[in-house]
Amino acid sequence: MTTVRYSYLAQQFADPAPILEALAQLVATGDFTLGKSVGEFERAFAAMLGVRHAIGVGSGTDALKLSLKALGLGPGDEVITAANTFIATVGAIHETGARAVFVDCEDHFCMNVDQVEAVITPRTRAIMPVHFTGEVVDMTQLMAIAERHQLPVVEDACQGILSEWNGRRSGTWGIAGGFSLHPLKNLNVWGDGGIIVTNDDDMDARLRLLRNHGLKNRDEIEILGCNSRLDSVQAVIGNWLIPQTGAITESRIRNGAYYDAAFGQIPEVRIPPRRSGMKRVFHLYMVFAEQRDALFAYCLEHGVEAKIHYPIPLYQQKGLRELGYVAGDFPVTDRHAREVISFPVDQHLTEEDQASVVDVVRAFYQNG
Ligand SMILES: *Cc1c(COP(=O)(O)O)cnc(C)c1O
Repeated sequence: MTTVRYSYLAQQFADPAPILEALAQLVATGDFTLGKSVGEFERAFAAMLGVRHAIGVGSGTDALKLSLKALGLGPGDEVITAANTFIATVGAIHETGARAVFVDCEDHFCMNVDQVEAVITPRTRAIMPVHFTGEVVDMTQLMAIAERHQLPVVEDACQGILSEWNGRRSGTWGIAGGFSLHPLKNLNVWGDGGIIVTNDDDMDARLRLLRNHGLKNRDEIEILGCNSRLDSVQAVIGNWLIPQTGAITESRIRNGAYYDAAFGQIPEVRIPPRRSGMKRVFHLYMVFAEQRDALFAYCLEHGVEAKIHYPIPLYQQKGLRELGYVAGDFPVTDRHAREVISFPVDQHLTEEDQASVVDVVRAFYQNG
């Protein structure tokens, strides 16, 4: 009896004919690894973000991992990031052999930049801000701290494509920014994919080597790398989507504004602070709700596919126990795990869908 679904993928790709035609052309050429489609996508992505270089890789996780590796990070090093992020941020850091060090988040869902300096140690080698939910980290303040301590910044912009802080796009503040092309992200292909942007020519050169076994050419290995190329098939999907990314972003922003206005009338729902001077792109539409668990159950029962991002604070997960954190270390992250709820906000949602979501939430607090 779902009236408002969360996943829109069937709608988005309801007419795959033009993509399948482009794929047929790819098949006809046999250009299956790092060929024309990947180069085209990289150039289009770099142009869209206004950066010198974009390097296609196997996933958003690899985009972050390879950026850290290109900076020379390894065992014994520490990377500062947010306690409330998605696991992939921490996984990417730990795959390099380095260790994640957390700061808490704030009610806008991004890291509390005021806490960063207190966790810098002699082992700190990088800062990885996360533009979580499509909100943007205060990059003016964070870059000032990074410069003061001469620490490189690698942005986890996986949820933040085309978002901006002070008129400058996410992913373009630090030495590198990583994006995910996963099916659930705002620019989504048909499987895994990722892309790194940088204005630094040396980073670009190292990243291109790292993603392709360190091969300088067919016969010469320049450095030890790995196999993390953006798949040519996925680049074809990316090339089809890239002209739509601006419109996708604008409709998410419109949908976010609709919810803000409507939920603003429901006292039991608290909208996060909407800081000015930034462009948030609503990868997720997330608010704080009284009696969250009961509201969540009520939504599912009444056909609204809400989600919780996330019910268990990342830093308290069993798989991260070796980091040594204990429950209560990050109280804002803990409170969010109890209070947040996410509603569908994608570009295929109709105003009717959004009205149904709001009606169900209102009905819960009136009769629930
Ligand atoms: C999705 C995501 C990633 C990783 O992307 P994958 O392409 O799934 O590897 C990293 N960080 C954040 C915040 C994400 O949302």
